[in-house]
Amino acid sequence: MNVVAIDGPGGAGKSTVARRLAARAGLAHLDTGAMYRALTWAVLDAGIDPADAEAITTLSREARLELADGAREVTIDGRDVTVAIRGPEVSAAVSAVSAHPGVREEMVRRQRQWVADRGGAVVEGRDIGSVVFPGARLKVYLTASEEERIRRRRGEADLARRDRLDSTRAASPLTVADGSVVIDTTDLGVEEIVDRLMSAL
Ligand code: C5P
Repeated sequence: MNVVAIDGPGGAGKSTVARRLAARAGLAHLDTGAMYRALTWAVLDAGIDPADAEAITTLSREARLELADGAREVTIDGRDVTVAIRGPEVSAAVSAVSAHPGVREEMVRRQRQWVADRGGAVVEGRDIGSVVFPGARLKVYLTASEEERIRRRRGEADLARRDRLDSTRAASPLTVADGSVVIDTTDLGVEEIVDRLMSAL
């Protein structure tokens, strides 16, 4: 399948690069972080403890999760959470919710289905090249200095903690997948990065 996998920590430029690359390559764009965020929103809304693996895994299987291209619109069980999933409450809890293996299994299944329905996509996340689409046509790992990443996320207090949790969890941690093109985006412009990826395609 025609998949470009883009992984990396928060603030590395994944969304910006994925959106632009998808437009230029004529592919759909799946933001898998938005799926974990929407589930986290529903967990908090239901008053479930982010550590409760069983309740959250059940919720992940039962929830009706709809995601438009590029996460321009995200709904869970009919509630529009497009804006709410970017808030600090969700950012603070999302890494704990995403660490449960049962949750990941269900989200990976949904991600593969979303991409299959569209015949391919640029897919961004943490485990796309390593777990979700290990056979991707192109694998990219974006990174940037911590200072720059926090600046891009407008000082998100939880960013460093979230990266640490995402990189050290047992179930599909953030890692540089075999065969990835690694790009440090600290001092690069979007078009420069996308040019490089277009010629690698
Ligand atoms: O990409 P974004 O920062 O919106 O992702 C939010 C969180 O979702 C990450 O910090 C991580 O805990 C989780 N995530 C994940 N696997 C992915 C994408 C996101 O665990 N493929």
